[in-house]
Amino acid sequence: QGQEAITYRPSWWVLLGDMGTGKTSLVLRFVKGQFLEFQESTIGAAFFTQVLSLNEATIKFDIWDTAGQERYHSLAPMYYRGAAAAVVVYDITSMESFERAKRWVNELQRQGNPNLIMFLVGNKVDLQDKRKVGIEDGEQYAKENGMVFLETSAKSTHNVNELFYEIAKRLAKKA
Ligand code: GDP
Ligand code: MG
Repeated sequence: QGQEAITYRPSWWVLLGDMGTGKTSLVLRFVKGQFLEFQESTIGAAFFTQVLSLNEATIKFDIWDTAGQERYHSLAPMYYRGAAAAVVVYDITSMESFERAKRWVNELQRQGNPNLIMFLVGNKVDLQDKRKVGIEDGEQYAKENGMVFLETSAKSTHNVNELFYEIAKRLAKKA
């Protein structure tokens, strides 16, 4: 008693989405509290670990941040097959990235673990004047596909903590 229990998750969660949508930036904003205007592209995939305190429990969770480039696409199943949650990220200023996100969702539905918790994230909401994907488009698509939906900005920090806490909460509930 009085000691915090660290809950080790049996599996990790994964970030998927087009290159340049801000996956790495979201993780770095959350893990290190920093934002880089010129974030170097991820090669293959990068691994992060973060410990989060949620109510009484301390939750440790592991994040695979994947590269969105087509040439790494064949690697993706390795990261999402054993994942407890998948976060599919698009950029609200790019309709193409939204279309690509939908393709990721289809792939996860076909090949991912059936209990996979899926999140849809529209990033870069700080760029309102360049918005191409309406909030209601993201909301609607997420609803149709049983996903949790959030719009975020790694730059302004909008909804970044909320996203990670939401993931931790859902993972904790599932365990
Ligand atoms: P990734 O390829 O999905 O990992 O995307 P990155 O995290 O490498 O980000 C790609 C580019 O978008 C970088 O220049 C980031 O600085 C920028 N970026 C990421 N998130 C945001 C955001 O929320 N707002 C704005 N304005 N730029 C962002
Ligand atoms: Mg990246």
